[in-house]
Amino acid sequence: MKEEKRLDLVIIGSGPSGLTAAIYAARSRLDFIVLEDDLIGGQIRSTYVVENYPGFLSIGGQELVDKMYEQAIKAGANIDEFDPIISVRLTEEEKVVETENYIYKPEAVIIATGSKYRSLPIPEESTYHGNGIHHCELCDGEMYDGKDIVVVGGGNSAVEGAMFLSKYGKTVTIVHQFDTLQAEKRLQEELFRNKKIKIIWDSEVRHALGESRLESLQIENIKTKEVTNIKADGVFAYIGMIPKTELFKEYVKLNVWGYIEAGETTETNVKGVFVAGDVRSKIIRQLTTATADGTVAALMAERYIVEKRRNK
Ligand SMILES: Cc1cc2nc3c(=O)[nH]c(=O)nc-3n(C[C@H](O)[C@H](O)[C@H](O)COP(=O)(O)OP(=O)(O)OC[C@H]3O[C@@H](n4cnc5c(N)ncnc54)[C@H](O)[C@@H]3O)c2cc1C
Repeated sequence: MKEEKRLDLVIIGSGPSGLTAAIYAARSRLDFIVLEDDLIGGQIRSTYVVENYPGFLSIGGQELVDKMYEQAIKAGANIDEFDPIISVRLTEEEKVVETENYIYKPEAVIIATGSKYRSLPIPEESTYHGNGIHHCELCDGEMYDGKDIVVVGGGNSAVEGAMFLSKYGKTVTIVHQFDTLQAEKRLQEELFRNKKIKIIWDSEVRHALGESRLESLQIENIKTKEVTNIKADGVFAYIGMIPKTELFKEYVKLNVWGYIEAGETTETNVKGVFVAGDVRSKIIRQLTTATADGTVAALMAERYIVEKRRNK
């Protein structure tokens, strides 16, 4: 029999939005837990450098989340990273979050689960996943020291990834489906100055090929339809993000792109269920918007709990 725990709040996810919510929840003296099913810190943990978070001219992604984590712990947060969630039930009347070890019954829930990288849409993705096909240059880049690396995509992540990988790769080739990059101009300028990186425009990856390991990619020029093979020991794909809503979609309303719908108050269609950070429907997904959501969600959750108790 699992132990049942009644508490004020469960925060799901310990990225910047979840950690910020934890800081505010702790300072509001709520009885709460943060549940995380991976490493603490979320996406920014694997980011080389952050230069747009106020208060820091330049800071490593890992260092920044370490500081957020330390601040949350010092404020009194309790974070469990070793107890994955199995299921949830989120209604106005009752909220249940069941993990492998516990059944949590909180008054309120904050969903702060962020998003994950979209997989490369090719038949061989699962064959080479983690062993030829990657999404995190900081985690896996070193494996390709002196090798031929391909980066897929043209946004900030792809450009930052390519520049980082150029420290290791013998060659770094970006394959991009359009004829211009979508990354910030400042990043593009830096990229174009890097002589090691070349770009193949208007092209998409169709297949990953190799005997026992990845050796090349088949790419198609989507304008001319010409198909060519390029050498690739490792591929790093940055072709968009998918919101992590699998556990909750039965209960909370999603928008057409799969993000959880909520406005300024961060409250979802289910009373007492709030959503913070990249997983929320919004236009701009950045650290500052994620931490702002975490703040609002925690304070709105507190108000909700106080009000509910007053009306009992
Ligand atoms: C390569 C890269 C570079 C970036 N650079 C910048 C930058 O320079 N400046 C900037 O402002 N923004 C940057 N961003 C964007 C920024 O990282 C995100 O906006 C921010 O991390 C969103 O925070 P979040 O807490 O909403 O989500 P996330 O960071 O995605 O964190 C969500 C957390 O929830 C956890 N989780 C998910 N599902 C579950 C579950 N079922 N149970 C428990 N835990 C779960 C995840 O493991 C993760 O730890 C960058 C993003 C990337 C990918």
